[in-house]
Amino acid sequence: MDLVISNAIVVTCDAGGTVITDGGVAVENGRIASAASSAELAPLSANAKRVVDGSGHILMPGIINTHCHAADSLFRGLVEDLALEPWLQTVWKAEGAILNPDTSRLGSVLGFAELLLSGVTTVMDMFWYPTETVRAARTVGIRVATGGIFFDPPGVTGHDLAGRIAAAEDFFDEFGASDDVFPSILPHGAYTVAPENLRTAKAIAERHGALFSTHAAETRAEQADVTGRYGRSIIRHLDFLGLLDERTVLAHCVHLDDGEIEILARTGASVAHNPMSNLKLASGVARIPDMLDAGINVALGTDGAISGNDLDMWMALRLAATLHKGVSGRPEVVTTSQALAMLTTAGAKALGAADRIGSLEPGKFADMILIDLKRPHAVPVFDPITHLVYSTAKSDVRHVFVGGEQVVRDGVLTRHDIGQTIAAVEHLAPKIAASIA
Ligand SMILES: [Zn+2]
Repeated sequence: MDLVISNAIVVTCDAGGTVITDGGVAVENGRIASAASSAELAPLSANAKRVVDGSGHILMPGIINTHCHAADSLFRGLVEDLALEPWLQTVWKAEGAILNPDTSRLGSVLGFAELLLSGVTTVMDMFWYPTETVRAARTVGIRVATGGIFFDPPGVTGHDLAGRIAAAEDFFDEFGASDDVFPSILPHGAYTVAPENLRTAKAIAERHGALFSTHAAETRAEQADVTGRYGRSIIRHLDFLGLLDERTVLAHCVHLDDGEIEILARTGASVAHNPMSNLKLASGVARIPDMLDAGINVALGTDGAISGNDLDMWMALRLAATLHKGVSGRPEVVTTSQALAMLTTAGAKALGAADRIGSLEPGKFADMILIDLKRPHAVPVFDPITHLVYSTAKSDVRHVFVGGEQVVRDGVLTRHDIGQTIAAVEHLAPKIAASIA
């Protein structure tokens, strides 16, 4: 064995919800060979290249963030107290002034570092320069689902449709065979991409067996805009265009009627729920309990730090577990196990990677995190799943492994000196502030 971690409380997130009170995992060639009790792992530890003592920690699968724009961390706190539509106009002005391949990579490293340090091992990221997104992901060691974007106006890159198609195809050529990249097609939304261009984007995704992700039904204004233009609500519009299936991830889905929930359930499209972003932009509260009742796969996302000010999946988790209780008046909605699934297995399913990530089971990638329990807010632990959903903070994540490689050790990145990145961002900050003046 290359690595054995033992003596931890193991929350496997397997289909049976198995928790091993004193256990760990054995890793070989980047994959989990065994998840078992410490006693069962002892013979493997004896011959392992490395043994990690997980005592005082929860060991769980790496977190999956299904909606992010990591490079927008450059604009953290720049635009506040506006609804999505005027907010976007200001955001696009700042992006247009600041972003190029180098600054996009810088912002992506910043965002991915924050994610990895908080235990996120896979992220779906939509941004202007996907090749730079991958370079940033590899700088810190996080897996990324990304690829060509579609956006009808020129946007930051100035591409026309042919340019966007070429960039999307190039991305598949470059990263189609990589374990650490899930190549995807990411049109911005039904209000910024025309129907025929959405169809073109989906056709490219289908030809490559790739993921397709877009923003959908984030605000009432967007629903009214799309319904006014096409005579159908957003989800019906996407369904009419043939865009919804099990390889589709829809970010937000805040404003859905019963019929639209039925469409998502029928087509198997996944929802990326971004409660922090939806609250801060006053977009509304998604009908998550109704979606779960309908059997829709609901995963979690942070959205960009420009709409939530950080990329905290633990905050997203706690909001997902509490918000819907408060809004519905029903304490039984969104159980702890449903919430934990949103953080892990539902994310894996959304990304079409349930065979590789999302749980600690033999054959899957050794993407896993160790969470410190020796904290005043962490004792006693009667139920580790309750602890994860309601008490854990991102700063409790001590160690992070991706494909068996330790990419965070004692709360510090192992591949990259983040001090350089922070200094570069601080150097750029005055220019960012001036961009919207
Ligand atoms: Zn977004």
